Amino acid sequence: MSNVLSNEKRGMRELGAEKKVGWDEVTHGVVLHSFEDDATDVAMRKAEDRNYSEFNSYTATVASWRVVKPVYNRDICIDCQNCWVWCPDSSIISRDKQILGIDYDHCKGCGVCVEVCPTNPKSLLMFGEAISSDDAIAQWPVKEKKEK
Ligand code: SF4
Ligand code: SF4
Repeated sequence: MSNVLSNEKRGMRELGAEKKVGWDEVTHGVVLHSFEDDATDVAMRKAEDRNYSEFNSYTATVASWRVVKPVYNRDICIDCQNCWVWCPDSSIISRDKQILGIDYDHCKGCGVCVEVCPTNPKSLLMFGEAISSDDAIAQWPVKEKKEK
């Protein structure tokens, strides 16, 4: 039997959500807390240190939606943070102004990060979902020379 889920079920298995109420079935007026405990200082905590509730999108993965993914090349990156600023899904992981890589649980493969990367060659490039990072980096283009 195929492991590929039909369109309307994609993402449900990752959520473990088959038996849960859908977003359009929730009782009007119900409150869905994003965090399990007091969230007063949550903005000051790193994502991995926050106690997310099962209703927070952080606990879900959209990895099965993606057919292409960005691969990050540390050797070329200048830590300008452009990709971190522009990623619409907060899927670039940056700590102390240094890029650590991609959050592949939440990246949707839109390619915005690649578009805004200023280095030559780019430090992020899109590859097919199945390729390993090592194989992708082995195929990285060389620096383009300016035409005189
Ligand atoms: S491909 Fe899109 S979602 Fe993924 S890291 Fe880049 S900008 Fe973010
Ligand atoms: S935009 Fe490119 S150079 Fe800038 S931090 Fe991101 S990967 Fe590095």
